[in-house]
Amino acid sequence: MTVLIAGGGIGGLTLALSLHQIGIDCRVFESVSELKPLGVGINVLPHAVRELIELGLLDKLDASGVRTKELSFFSKHGKPIWSEPRGIEAGYKWPQISIHRGTLHQILLDATIERLGAENVLTSHHLASFTDTPEGISATFLDKATGKDAGTYQGTLLVGADGIHSAVREKLYPQEGPPLWNGRILWRGITESDAYLSGRTMIMAGHEILKFVCYPISNAPEPNGGAERQISDQLGGGAPSAAFL
Ligand SMILES: Cc1cc2nc3c(=O)[nH]c(=O)nc-3n(C[C@H](O)[C@H](O)[C@H](O)COP(=O)(O)OP(=O)(O)OC[C@H]3O[C@@H](n4cnc5c(N)ncnc54)[C@H](O)[C@@H]3O)c2cc1C
Repeated sequence: MTVLIAGGGIGGLTLALSLHQIGIDCRVFESVSELKPLGVGINVLPHAVRELIELGLLDKLDASGVRTKELSFFSKHGKPIWSEPRGIEAGYKWPQISIHRGTLHQILLDATIERLGAENVLTSHHLASFTDTPEGISATFLDKATGKDAGTYQGTLLVGADGIHSAVREKLYPQEGPPLWNGRILWRGITESDAYLSGRTMIMAGHEILKFVCYPISNAPEPNGGAERQISDQLGGGAPSAAFL
């Protein structure tokens, strides 16, 4: 059995590691020419951390991320409204880990290349089309930078892990159309600061149409002695969106 995975993001690489762990051959096909550690903060919830622990990656996550202890809400004037425990403190067997998305991606990429071999993580392979065959699936790729054909590969099945603008979803569910924008704009950024509150607290402040979110994503010492922190702002209309939390 061979699984073709379209997309070398968080989902695609995690799937590749899990399949490899249970002895199923797979290959990752990534659209971009070079996978780089992009993004800002991401919160990996206990059920997801559980999978990463099973893959033997907890030490690496702990070395880079922060075990989020609590989520606290404040009014737009900074008055405390509500606080609730997270991860282990909330009774889970696994922690919630806040980490730089690029760091998480790099941890997954390094492990995938180490365990599956670089030949099974193909970049510049953008899934262009696929068809069913008697044996499974035939998938055709192109190099988006040059527009040139990047080959056709046979597999037992194809998994679409190709992100929000998934080509797999578009083909399987053409009636859905592109993702709908909810009208929200989110500004993201990271900054260094001293630890605040418990040192492992995620805060949200504001109200339903204007919200500020801040959580630590690294305790790694910086050259100036500080620690990396993330600040995330969110502006818009209507109910708050938690898309990137
Ligand atoms: C560059 C980037 C930065 C991000 N930064 C953050 C962040 O800071 N915080 C946060 O919470 N979330 C961030 N996200 C979103 C977050 O990573 C995903 O929503 C989440 O991890 C879901 O993972 P996924 O594997 O489904 O998709 P993604 O992690 O988005 O990965 C999808 C991958 O598929 C590839 N791809 C797309 N189309 C094709 C195709 N046709 N053929 C082959 N490959 C294809 C993309 O290049 C990408 O590498 C980011 C995503 C990306 C791509």
